[in-house]
Formats: sequence, structure tokens, C-alpha cells
Amino acid sequence: MIPMVDLKEQYHSLKAEIDTEIQNALDNTHFILGPNVTAFEAESAAYLGVNHAVSCASGTDALHLALLAAGIGPGDEVITSPFTFIATAEAICYTGATPIFVDIKADTFNIDMELIEAAITPRTRAVLPVHIFGQPADMRALASIAEKHKLLVIEDCAQSFGARIGDEFTGGIGMAGCHSFFPSKNLGCFGDGGMITTQSDDMASSLKILRNHGSERRYYHDVIGYNSRLDEIQAAILRVKLKRIEQFNENRRRVAHHYNDLLKDLVTTPQEDGIGVHVFHQYTILTEKRELIMQALSDEQVANAIYYPVPLHQQTVFRDKTATQRLPVTERVSEQCMSLPIYPELGNESVEHIASIIRSVF
Ligand SMILES: *Cc1c(COP(=O)(O)O)cnc(C)c1O
Repeated sequence: MIPMVDLKEQYHSLKAEIDTEIQNALDNTHFILGPNVTAFEAESAAYLGVNHAVSCASGTDALHLALLAAGIGPGDEVITSPFTFIATAEAICYTGATPIFVDIKADTFNIDMELIEAAITPRTRAVLPVHIFGQPADMRALASIAEKHKLLVIEDCAQSFGARIGDEFTGGIGMAGCHSFFPSKNLGCFGDGGMITTQSDDMASSLKILRNHGSERRYYHDVIGYNSRLDEIQAAILRVKLKRIEQFNENRRRVAHHYNDLLKDLVTTPQEDGIGVHVFHQYTILTEKRELIMQALSDEQVANAIYYPVPLHQQTVFRDKTATQRLPVTERVSEQCMSLPIYPELGNESVEHIASIIRSVF
């Protein structure tokens, strides 16, 4: 059996160190905003080259808090991708703003920067690009659009921890970057966790207040905030894994490139546009033989999945507003995409085995 991601293998390879750090956190009993949280924020900020990293309870909360701290609220429109996990759009809705979906590019699955300007209205306040599957969106093209129209840029980095454009990491380019430490993400903890990165001092201080009941000084509350903090035990685990993130991401790239070599004559393999370094949170192919390939893989106990079968503009929850919207590239991609197992510990023999099953379908 080959899973989409093997969390057991990663845990067992780091077990001694992780267990020690968890035990230390238990012995310390400083469970809320304790020393591991502070250290993890500092280490993440240093690694990602940002002035501030503010942790919180999940990637969804990271998006929500970043939008709030940016002043997004009722009546505002936020432009984003329809080809992403629901949380991207949910967070926009939590603030009272409206997500506006712009079509993607078939080769990278990222929002098509050339279509953004046509979607801008007097209500547009921000653009929320998603570095989908780990490939950085074209942040340089977006920066010039944002500057011209005075829009804020907030990055969804839930799938792109460690990805970079030149020497800038995703999450340090826009006004804020929103990270998720959901267990299966490139940097994952053993439950839920999230973080916002920013170069802005003001943004960081708003975020620290918002994540902790609207309070800067204990029992003095200036705004309505939230209970959204990263657990001390999760931070202890994340510190162990953060030290290995470069190696994890390099191994994801090894797996992806091996798949590319073996599959490129059969299916459309994921394209790296060269704008940034792709960290392959998912390895997603396009094929007209999707059903057959999925069946063949399942028959051989190889996990497979469709990310994402229903684009956000066609989800029931948004149907009232976007039922008539046509986003042809996204719709075609949703019909043809499928993802294969990828994780740092996946061996080349397994990649070859998976590729040979796919080849047998042709
Ligand atoms: C996982 C994910 C999120 C949400 O993160 P959680 O930590 O699960 O709340 C947001 N956006 C994208 C693109 C994701 O993949």
C-alpha cells in the first residue's frame, strides 16, 4: 500500500528527537504561548527572511486574521483563485467580504495574472494568490497590478512552505503570508497549526492582538479578537521539522522530477514555469484517462486523489453568486487533474512502480 503522504515514516525517522521535545514541553507546562512558540516564530522568521512570524491555530485562521489585520471587511471584494481548498474563500467570507474568482493557467494551476485587471471593481481591496501545490504564483506581475490599482496582496502559502522566487520566500513578498501546519503540509505538525509572516511591524502587532482575545496587555481588551494560538507542543514538533524543511522539499522535488521523466510521454506532467522554485506539495497531472488511471492505481493499492474535483465557483455554498460564471480553464483542469503520492520519504522504486501501473493503462 502506498499512501498519498506517509506521516508514520516521517515520525519514526525523527521519533527520538520529537519525543524528547514533547516531553520537555510537558515538563515545562508553559502550554499557551510558551517558549517553543516564541522560538519557532523566531526560527521561522529567520528561515523565511521576514521581520515577523506570528503563529496561530490553523492555516484558515492565518488567512482570516491576516485579512482582518489588513482591514478587509463587509462590502469589500477580494480576488482569488477558484482552484484551491475551500479555506481560502471561507476566510474571505468570515470578514464579510466577497471572494471574486479569476480563472487559472492550465500549465501552473495558479491564478492567471493577465485576467486580474478585468475583475477589478471599485470595491476590490485585495488579491489573495494561492501558491497552489507548492509552485509560487507570479508575484512580480501581481505586484505591478496591485501597485497600479492600490490593492493589498495577501499570500496563501498553505502549500508552499519553503518555496521561493529568487531569494525571497513565499510569505515574505506580499503584505502578509498565511501558512498552514496541517499534518500533511510540507511542514506539518501533529494537529492543527498556522502562522502569518509579514515584513510590517504594524501588521504583526495587530495580528498578535487579534490571535489573543484582542488583548495586548492581559485583561485589557481593545478590539474583539479570537482564541487562535499555536499549541506549545505543536511548536516543539515544528521546531524539529523546520530544521529539515530544505531536505524535505528537495526530496519532494526529486520525486516529482522522477515522475516527470517516467510519465511525460503519457500524461501532462506538472509544469515548472521557472518564476520560482516549486516545492511540490502535490504532484498533479492532467489526463483524459483519469478514471482508468485511478482505477488501475487503486487496484494495486496505490493511493490517488483529485485536487480539486469541484472548483470553488461551482460549489453549492457559492452557487447563488457564481452559478453563471464560466471559468473554462479551471473547469477543464478540474475534469482532468489527479494527484499521485508524493512525500519526502517516497523512494525511487515506488515512483517507478506507480509509473509502470500508469503506463499499463496506455
Ligand atoms: C490546507 C490549506 C488551507 C487551510 O489550512 P488549515 O491549516 O487546514 O486550516 C488553506 N489554503 C490552502 C490552499 C490549503 O491547502
